[in-house]
Amino acid sequence: MKTEMMCTVCGSVFVGGPTSKFCPECKRLRKDMHRESSRIKERAKKALEERSVRRKHKTDSLAAAVRRLEAYNKRTGENLSYGQRVQREII
Ligand SMILES: [Zn+2]
Repeated sequence: MKTEMMCTVCGSVFVGGPTSKFCPECKRLRKDMHRESSRIKERAKKALEERSVRRKHKTDSLAAAVRRLEAYNKRTGENLSYGQRVQREII
């Protein structure tokens, strides 16, 4: 049931449902604002996730590299330093 309602933001009269609070114009503005703020939040969340993934990956890859190098040293009987191994592109 559509009735005449008054917008709680701008006070203009509009036709809407009994629970409508905002006129179409204010509704659109609120929707845009919400979309923009969600976009910002989403972007911040994504940046945070990427940063933690990067951090985790760095740690993981270093630990994995050390494991690979140790395995290589064991396998070949060599005792190369990290720098030598990197130079030889073993890891
Ligand atoms: Zn309004």
